[in-house]
This record gives sequence, structure tokens and C-alpha cells, in this order.
Amino acid sequence: MKYSLRPYQQEAVERTVKHFRASQDAAVIVLPTGAGKSLVIAELARIAKQKVMVLAHVKELVEQNAEKFISFGLKASIFSAGLKQKSLQQQVTFASVQSLARHTDKLNEHYSLLIIDECHRVNGESTSQYGQVINALKKYNPALKVLGLTATPFRMAMGWVYHQHYHGLVRGNADAPFKKCIYELPLRYMIKHGYLTKPYEVDAAISHYDFSSLPSDSFGRYSPADMNTLLKNNTRATQTIINHVLEYSQTRQGVMIFAATVMHAQEITHYLPQEQTAIITGDTVNNERDRIILAFKQKKIKYLVNVSVLTTGFDAPHVDYIAILRPTESVSLYQQIVGRGLRLSEGKEDCLVIDYAGNGFDLFYPEVGSKKAASDNEPVQVLCPGCGFANIFWGKTDEQGKLLEHFGRRCQGLLDDGEGEQIQCDYRFRFKECEHCGEQNDIAARQCHHCNAVLADPDDKLRAALNLKDALVLRCSGLHAEVINAHKQPLLKISYFDEDGASCEEVFNLTNKTGRFIFNKQYSQRAQPGYNPTQWHSAEQVVECQQQLVAPDFVIARKSKQYGWKIADKLFDYQGHFRKANQLSRD
Ligand SMILES: [Zn+2]
Ligand SMILES: [Zn+2]
Repeated sequence: MKYSLRPYQQEAVERTVKHFRASQDAAVIVLPTGAGKSLVIAELARIAKQKVMVLAHVKELVEQNAEKFISFGLKASIFSAGLKQKSLQQQVTFASVQSLARHTDKLNEHYSLLIIDECHRVNGESTSQYGQVINALKKYNPALKVLGLTATPFRMAMGWVYHQHYHGLVRGNADAPFKKCIYELPLRYMIKHGYLTKPYEVDAAISHYDFSSLPSDSFGRYSPADMNTLLKNNTRATQTIINHVLEYSQTRQGVMIFAATVMHAQEITHYLPQEQTAIITGDTVNNERDRIILAFKQKKIKYLVNVSVLTTGFDAPHVDYIAILRPTESVSLYQQIVGRGLRLSEGKEDCLVIDYAGNGFDLFYPEVGSKKAASDNEPVQVLCPGCGFANIFWGKTDEQGKLLEHFGRRCQGLLDDGEGEQIQCDYRFRFKECEHCGEQNDIAARQCHHCNAVLADPDDKLRAALNLKDALVLRCSGLHAEVINAHKQPLLKISYFDEDGASCEEVFNLTNKTGRFIFNKQYSQRAQPGYNPTQWHSAEQVVECQQQLVAPDFVIARKSKQYGWKIADKLFDYQGHFRKANQLSRD
């Protein structure tokens, strides 16, 4: 059988060949679910001249990839206990990582290429099953080329699976398992070209849950106990939502409902027609799960309720209604969930998507790669004042689309270091300064990346100041600059205000070099959205452009007999446990 690759599949193959001709760095290809990864894998395996190993983590995927390859009249070995075959004979082997990791002693040959399907599961540790296989193959070929494929290169709890993206930006850490993403196809392309079904996103104009009121961990996740408490107080909302689902599903074939917790799933199931509904959770035993999935695929069951188990690797093409009743902490996760309904299927025109949990994501948002701070945040483009790179961060805009605020920390642009390597631009939008060497560090860093000194914890400083009788802590809500004339010199007076109107002041002398240095050290590197950082040379200039200045979040002053309150410290870009001005509560 002759096969032809779709244009983007051909491009993915060409990029891979080109990359490995020039480099041995482990690389990733990102293709959305439904893009036909197995065909790309088959083609790469076919054109390779030496031995190739293709890894997957479940037997179904091993089988699927192998079948695609074999259907083109090519021969392949299969190494998978689940498939009851353990052969490495042919030039190309399709293996399950569990089976192969148990038999690395059998890998005593030279392989030129290792392809890892669903490569977001690789964590980079050499003791992991993937690590064991990679190490074993590298014994015979230290120059082994490693290619990963995935639809989801980012996961909130694990971060990015690769370090650099070919669009010239940094994503994951330098020690991410893969060095570079060499090709990525957006979901939008797939839908636009008819390879996936159109989503029909409807705003549910009915009461929905507000999980955002709950405390979340650093990955943006909520605890099941907290969610259960919230849901228990919202049983009426659940009932209303399910009535809505029932109404909208009348013209639909298959409905997938994503619940927040097991208890929630049971409650949802209770409101649905019993004979047409099934529930799958992490505790559902395999046989039962297979039986339910089969019945759902055969349309004997219309409603499939699940709790965080069917987000990947499950496909029933006829699904044409996705009801989201759970919080989704990242764009990627949201896309994965919606992706369950985007497969093409006969007679299916679109897939209805309704988010009843107010997650506020758009299917076509780019993955920002960090936790969304508030439900009204959206991805915004922020140009780096240093290198000009267009970063995408979470932020807020006004009704005209003007940027009000963004939460980016460091520019993600990649720059050539002049020696053939690419390094991340070192411009930081927010930073914590090392009191030892003056180097800028990430606001969450505990140790200086330059001199290794321990960075002062701003919370310790605030706590210490609050415990002192002669100290004043201003929760700063703004600043004001004016020129004052003293001793016939124009001096710059900056006043800081807190929410209740309390204030304190400090004076800078920009007429001399030392004074300019001190002021610029504090105010020349940060700038309000829409402005570039500015070098300040006179008090008049500062007063004229004071809307550009970024005020500190906290000002700590000490009582001095001579001068009244004297500012001892200012905390910029604060991140910690104390509430900042204009913040309703700590997030
Ligand atoms: Zn930059
Ligand atoms: Zn330092």
C-alpha cells in the first residue's frame, strides 16, 4: 500500500532530518491529537538507514504505531510483554518502555535513532524507565539521536518538556529532557484545514461554579476536599447545569462530562438517565473500564462522566458535546479536554463545548506556561525592552485592548551568544536584587544565581519591621514625584502613599553622579506597561514622566529623632504572604 503524508507531516519529517544532520540535541515535535503522529513516526523509521527504536508507554500505542508501519508493507519487530512478543530482530522495533526497561541487557546493538511517543512522560531522570533505555542504547552509540513526539509539551506540574523553541524563545529549564522543539503545529491549523472538527464554544448563561475562590497550590490545583465542600454548597447549581446539559444534548450523539471529584461525578450521574450513563474514575477496574468505553463507542451509552482519567489517550470520534464541570489549571489541559471531541466522524458537524466552571480559557490561547493569577487574565503580548522579543504572558487589558498589567518575569527571547550557542535574554520585568552583588534574580529565587548568596526573604523583612515599635510599614498604593528647591538646587522628592492616606517621603539629588546612580539603581530598570525602562538624569525629567515609574509594593521607614520617618527599605516586585495594596485578598 502506498501512503502519502499530509503537507505538515512531510514538513515535520523534513525538519527532523535537517535537525539531526546538524545536531545531536534531543528534539521534540508537537502535533495536536488527531494529527497522525503514527504516520510521521512510520516515515521517519522508514527512511532511517540504521536501526530504529520506537517507544510508547502503553501496549495499545505500541500496536497502533507498529500497525501503521507494517500496513505499508514494511517489516517491524515488536517488544512488548502485553502484546506477547519480544523481538528486536528487524531494523525497526516498536517497544513498550516498561518491557524494554526490564530487558536492557538485550540492547547490545547500534541504534541510530530513538523515537519516543507521548514524550511528555519523560522526566529526564536516568533511573526512570526511559532513562534506562536511553542509557543502554547510548552504550553502543553515544551519538544516539532522540526524538520525542507529543501533543502536550507542557504540564502544569512538570513544566515544559523542552528547553528551546524554534521560534526563538526559551520555554523549560536548561535541564529539560529535550533540548529543542523543532516543529509545532497549532490546533487552529488542524481545524481550519478540516483535519479536526470545529468546536462550537457556547457561553453557558446559567449559574456556574466558582472554583477560583478556593486556595490553590503552586500548580494552580485545588484539593478534592475543598472542591467537595464548595460543590456540596452548590448542589442546586449542579442540578441546573445537568438540566442544561440534558437540554443541549438532545441533538447530540455522545456527551463527555468532566467532573471535579468522585463525589461530584456521582452526583452528576444521579441527575442523568441511568440506562444511558456510565462513570469512569481512577478507581474503575480495567475490565469494567474497557466495557464502558466499548459501550460508549457503540453508542449504547450516551453520557460518559469521568474524573481526570480520560483527558489523554482516549478517543471516541463520535463525541460531539464536551461539558466541563471541573477547574482546568492550564491552557494545555483545557485543550486536551476539548480535544476529546474534535475527532472527525461521519455526520458530525461540530462539537459543542460548554465550560460550566468559569475557567475562562479560549481554545486557541497559546500556552503561557504559568499559573493564571485571576480568572480575568488573558494572554498578552509584551515586547522586551532589551531585545524586542514578543513575549506572551498572562495579563490584563482594558476594553480597548490596551495593556494594563502583565505578570511576566523574564524575557523568553533567545539571543546568539556569539559562539554559536543560543542563550536566554537576561532582561527581567520583575526581579529581586541580590544585596551582595547587585545581580537581578527571579522574584521567587532563594539564592543568588550569580554569587550564591542567600537572598533575603521579603516576608522576613516585613515581619521584623512590623514587630518594631519605631518602624512604619506602608502598603504602598502609589507614588508622587515633585521638584523641590533646597540650597538653590532642584531636588527630587518622592512621596509614597498607602491605602489609608498615610505617607512618607524621600529626597534624591540628581544633579550629581552619585545621586543619579542611587536613583537609577531603583527606578531605571522597571517600567509601567507600555513604557520602556529609562535612564533618569534630572528631577524635572522624572516629574514629567512619573507615570512610567513603578512604585515599590512596600516601604519600610524607621523613626529618626532628627528627620521624622526615614525610609529604610523598599520592596519592589513583592511576592509573599502579605497582602499588597489594592489586592482584595492574598492569592
Ligand atoms: Zn529580551
Ligand atoms: Zn549575588
